[in-house]
Amino acid sequence: MQSTEQEVNTAVRGVVGSGLADVQRSRNFDAFHRVSVDDKRVINGQTDVNQLVPFKYKWAWEKYLAACANHWMPQEIPMSRDIALWKDAGALSEDERRLVKRNLGFFVTADSLAANNIVLGTYRHITAPECRQYLLRQAFEEAIHTHAYQYIVESLGLDEGEIFNAYREVPSIRAKDEFLIPFIDTLTDPSFRTGTAENDQRLLRSLIVFACLMEGLFFYVGFTQILALGRQNKMTGAAEQYQYILRDESMHCNFGIDLINQIKLENPHLWTPEFRDEVRELVRTAVNLEYRYAEDTMPRGVLGLNATMFKEYLRFIANRRCQQIGIDPLFPGNGNPFPWMSEMIDLKKEKNFFETRVTEYQTGGALSWD
Ligand code: FE
Repeated sequence: MQSTEQEVNTAVRGVVGSGLADVQRSRNFDAFHRVSVDDKRVINGQTDVNQLVPFKYKWAWEKYLAACANHWMPQEIPMSRDIALWKDAGALSEDERRLVKRNLGFFVTADSLAANNIVLGTYRHITAPECRQYLLRQAFEEAIHTHAYQYIVESLGLDEGEIFNAYREVPSIRAKDEFLIPFIDTLTDPSFRTGTAENDQRLLRSLIVFACLMEGLFFYVGFTQILALGRQNKMTGAAEQYQYILRDESMHCNFGIDLINQIKLENPHLWTPEFRDEVRELVRTAVNLEYRYAEDTMPRGVLGLNATMFKEYLRFIANRRCQQIGIDPLFPGNGNPFPWMSEMIDLKKEKNFFETRVTEYQTGGALSWD
């Protein structure tokens, strides 16, 4: 082998990682094989991960474009009304203040967990460059979300130590994170490799937990609470921040679901009845944990919301997540007690609920929703 070729191959291995599949990919590079669409795979792919085109997973590329078109930054949203309201001793009840603090207590660290999961875990195991491109955008959005929560905490002058340690100190928040961490650890373990049915199932399980249960379920009590405050003309700056976050998160969840379904399609042997039963049990556990969090944040009912309504809402969302990945719903016949939340999620370009801006924030392209 000539030295230049050796150097190039070392560089390629450096980019794509150090697993067996990566060595195989660099062999293909040795032979100067052009990447063919038919050879691309979402996991355990043998093609060069640096070649975005020819496109195979157009759904991933389109989500990347849509996510870029939805770009926003937290400091662009005025927080002065929220600050005045928070300082006014009589403006918010004790229960409303507790709700805001518990809410931020979960979110200030949640998106950091999500970012670590992508950057240190998921990204390494996904071999489709179109999907990696979206994951890079998603990782930046998780940073923007952490920034947004920090910005709210700072604007309101909350006790940062209390809020940022809530995931260690508040049992209902800690329980949610303790449920998630083993699944994140699987993906971020440097020795974890896909390529066997058992490990591919471990990857798939973690992706389901991350997309359907963390981003797709654990965020929803919190989003609903702050958006409900906004609907009552309270904490409208925070509510607007959450609205943009919800729009991003709903795309993260949809991307994750597309990724899961594509892995199923390419690897049908992973989708066994035992595996599906196990996923159903994880969904059930997650619903219970999120319900406990709802009870803890709203012990007496607040804003016309109470924990029982959330039980119904969580079951409704859980059914939808099951259906989206092809699993029988756990709670058949359960309706949606918060139809206005669907309107929030389905917010179109021409609608802006809080009307703090003339137009929807866009840096380019068209706003697109799935
Ligand atoms: Fe996310």
